[in-house]
Amino acid sequence: MTKLPSQNETPGRISEEAAGGLLHIDLDALASNWRSLRDSAGGAEAAAVVKADAYGTGIEQAVPALARAGCRTFFVAHLSEAIRARDVAPNATIYVLNGLFSGTGPTYAQFDLRPVLGSFEEIGEWAGFSRAQGKRLKAAIHVDTGMNRLGLTVPEGMTLRNLPDLQDFETALLMSHFVSAEEHDNPLNQQQIEAFQAVRDTLPGIPASLANSSGIFLKEKPHCDIVRPGYALYGGNPTPDRDNPMRPVVGLEGRIVQLRVVEPDQTVGYNGRWLALTRRRIATISVGYADGYPRSASARGKSGEELLAGVAMVAGRPCPFAGNVSMDLVTVDVTDVPERQVKRGDTVTLIGDNLTVDEVGRRAGTIGYEILTNLGRRYARIYRGGEG
Ligand SMILES: *Cc1c(COP(=O)(O)O)cnc(C)c1O
Repeated sequence: MTKLPSQNETPGRISEEAAGGLLHIDLDALASNWRSLRDSAGGAEAAAVVKADAYGTGIEQAVPALARAGCRTFFVAHLSEAIRARDVAPNATIYVLNGLFSGTGPTYAQFDLRPVLGSFEEIGEWAGFSRAQGKRLKAAIHVDTGMNRLGLTVPEGMTLRNLPDLQDFETALLMSHFVSAEEHDNPLNQQQIEAFQAVRDTLPGIPASLANSSGIFLKEKPHCDIVRPGYALYGGNPTPDRDNPMRPVVGLEGRIVQLRVVEPDQTVGYNGRWLALTRRRIATISVGYADGYPRSASARGKSGEELLAGVAMVAGRPCPFAGNVSMDLVTVDVTDVPERQVKRGDTVTLIGDNLTVDEVGRRAGTIGYEILTNLGRRYARIYRGGEG
């Protein structure tokens, strides 16, 4: 008789024993980060940016945890993400940053979502849809103050108040976005603050939003009415040249599949890009680029060299990667860890244990944002907290 799968083996849910990597997500730390960002925002409302599956942490888990902490407004990038957020936050205000695609009005209305309008064309379509519905539907308007990516230009923004379409819907929010808020002395910050203020002055009474995570910490305090942190909620450092004021939210562990000794003059991994100069002990870990761990963290060079490449914490010690990150595996030089402290089946830390998402990003030649948003679907996801 065939055995029925136990609950731990249900397809779709990845159990700890069956997974290559364990992803720990601390929803209490997420809620605590939201409260601390709210307290840093000088009385402004704190929203939460939960695009890209809440920066890889899971919309279905992160949004309810944030809502229980008191968050009432959420920003996503896509309409599909907004529908998922609505499902778990029935009373929240939800904005879709990437704007309005033609014909999607009925979906916005069905799920009570608000588009962020970024052109006169989008404004015209939302106004037309509102007229057809016989309601002043709510939306945000995005003014581009320097990114040159999304939104009305500043001169266009200055003409908004004369636009007849504006009478047909409710502009619930006027927003813009910083180019380099993490560089606190970049003069562009002040220029953007002033350009945004000039547009706001022409539209009195409309709530405004400018600051992302790093924007909250600028000395100019551009908090306006509502702040829009993303990265810092998930433990990223919003003040890269100072200590991180946020609590870590994400931890990643990989399991040791094999340990082996590599003799001098042997190479490790695809294309033989890492050379052992002396006898080395190598641990092979069951996480690779197919899990979203970047291949750009590969260690190409010789043993003992200081390479800008990935590291793993093994028995509390940082151990450098050796060779190319492969699809499902990464090889780590554990020669410096006493032999009895490292064995097959042990877990090593790839994020956590003082190895921050910012540091993992830097070592892969990218930013922590990309590390978080690529967190893979093959991990066993282990959530803690979030009950409020
Ligand atoms: C992603 C995003 C945010 C959040 O930025 P963080 O740097 O992650 O805090 C805020 N506003 C807009 C428009 C965004 O696209």
